[in-house]
Amino acid sequence: MLYKSTRGNSKYITASEGIIKGIAEDGGLYIPNKIPNIEENLESLANFSYKEVALYVLRKYLTDFTEEELKNCIDKAYDNKFSGDDIVNLRRVGQEYFLELYHGPTLAFKDMALAILPHLLDISLKKNGIEKEVVILTATSGDTGKAALEAFSNVAGIKVIVFYPYNGVSDIQKKQMITQKGENVLVVGIKGNFDDAQSGVKNIFNDKEYSELLQNKGYILSSANSINIGRLIPQIVYYVFSYLQLIKNKEINVGDKINVVVPTGNFGNILAGYYAKKMGIPIDKLICASNENNVLWDFINKGIYDTHRVFKITESPSMDIVVSSNLERLVYYLANENADTVKELMGQLKEKGIYKINSDMKDNLKDFYAGFANDEKTIEAIGQLYEESRYIMDTHTSVAYSVYKEYMNKVNSKEKTIIVSTASPFKFTRSVCRAMGIEDRLKDDFQLIDELGLYENVPSSIKDLKDRQVLHKSICEIEEIREKIGEFLFR
Ligand SMILES: *Cc1c(COP(=O)(O)O)cnc(C)c1O
Repeated sequence: MLYKSTRGNSKYITASEGIIKGIAEDGGLYIPNKIPNIEENLESLANFSYKEVALYVLRKYLTDFTEEELKNCIDKAYDNKFSGDDIVNLRRVGQEYFLELYHGPTLAFKDMALAILPHLLDISLKKNGIEKEVVILTATSGDTGKAALEAFSNVAGIKVIVFYPYNGVSDIQKKQMITQKGENVLVVGIKGNFDDAQSGVKNIFNDKEYSELLQNKGYILSSANSINIGRLIPQIVYYVFSYLQLIKNKEINVGDKINVVVPTGNFGNILAGYYAKKMGIPIDKLICASNENNVLWDFINKGIYDTHRVFKITESPSMDIVVSSNLERLVYYLANENADTVKELMGQLKEKGIYKINSDMKDNLKDFYAGFANDEKTIEAIGQLYEESRYIMDTHTSVAYSVYKEYMNKVNSKEKTIIVSTASPFKFTRSVCRAMGIEDRLKDDFQLIDELGLYENVPSSIKDLKDRQVLHKSICEIEEIREKIGEFLFR
C-alpha cells in the first residue's frame, strides 16, 4: 500500500516515509491509495484480542513493515501501561455501550495512538536510513502534550519538546506535564494562550533557515500531531475491536448495523471511525458531537466551513478548536477523491477563512449526523447519568452522550450505539464533581481527586501526582521559543 497527498502534488510514498514526514510537501495530508475491505472476515475475527486486531489492521496499512516489526511495536505499546479489561473497556450502561479509551498512562484517548507512534517512528527511521536525531516539537492544550511526553520519554534517538499555555491548562494537566521524567524531554510554559503556543511552534516548522540549522546540528523536526498516519491508523483498531466485541458478547449478529458517537475536535478520532466504516464495519451513522465551538456541526449540516467565529473556552477544553485539520481527509472522500477540489477548497480556507462544498459533496455527508451540546447540557448530563446508572463520565464523553440523546429524540434509532469515551472523569475532576453535586469550592483539583475517589477507584497513574517532584519550571515569552529549544538541544 502506498500513500499520497489529499492535494495531489506529491509522489506516492511508503507508510514508513509518511510516518516520518507527517504532512505532505504541498500542505496536504497523506491518504492510503486504497482502503482494504474486511467485511467478509468479521465472523472469524470475533475472538481476537485487542493486540491481535491491532496486528490484523496494521498489517493491511503499514505494508512496508514486516509482521515481526509490527508485532514488536504492538507488544511494546499495549502492555500493562493500559489498565482496561483488554486495553480498552466496552461497558454497557442502560441501552448504550461506552467504549472507554482512557485506561492508558495519561487518562485520555490520545494514548491509544501515541503509545505506539514512537515505536513505528523508530522502525521507520531505520528503514529509511535516517540517522539524525528526531525532535518531536508540540504545542498542547493539555492532553496531547502529556501523552507525547509519556510515549517518547527515554526513547533512544528522539527528543520531545512540549510548549503549553502556562495559565491555560487544568492543574492536573499541568502537574502531569511538569513532573515528566526522562533525559530527553523538555516542558516549557508559555506566557500566552494555546493559539499563541501553537502559532509559535508552527512558525518554527515553517522556518527553512531554522530547520537547516537543526539539520546541520544533526536533528530533524517532526510532530506528534494527529494528522500523522502513524496516529490515524492505530485509531481504526478500536472501532473494529469494539464491533467484534459486540459480536463475541452476542449483543449483535455479524452484519448488524451500529451507531457510533464521537466527541470531536480535530476530527482525528471520528475519521478513524469513518475508515472503519469504509473497511466494512457495519456502522450506520457516525455521530459527530461538538461543544459550543460548533464549526463541524455547521459544516455537516450546511456544507459551509466558516472559521469566522469566536473561540470559546468550554468545560470540554480538548475539543476547543476552530480549524479541524483532519477534516481535509474527509473532504477528499466527499469530493470522490478529486485532489484538485481539495486543493481549491483548502486554498479558500487559507485565504478567506471559509469554503463551501457543492451539493454532490454534501450528499456524500449522509454517513454523518452532527450535533452540539453547550456547557450547561454537558454538566447536566453527567449528573443525570450518574443518578440513573451510577456511571461517571467526563465532560468530553458527556458532550457525545448529550448529542446522542438529542439524536434519539429525533430519530429513535433501533440500532445499538457505541459512545466513544475519550477521557477519565479524574482528568476533569472539578467539572465532574460540580456535576455530581460534590462541594468543590475551597478545594484544589488534587483534593477533588480524593473526593471523586469516594465514588470510583482513583487511577494509579495520578494517585501520587500531588506529591510528585516538579522537574520543569521553565516559563517563557512567545518570542523566546527558539532560545528555549536551542538551550535544550545545543547544550
Ligand atoms: C483530543 C481529544 C478529543 C478530540 O479528538 P479529535 O481526534 O481531535 O477529534 C476529545 N476528547 C478528548 C478528551 C481529547 O483529548
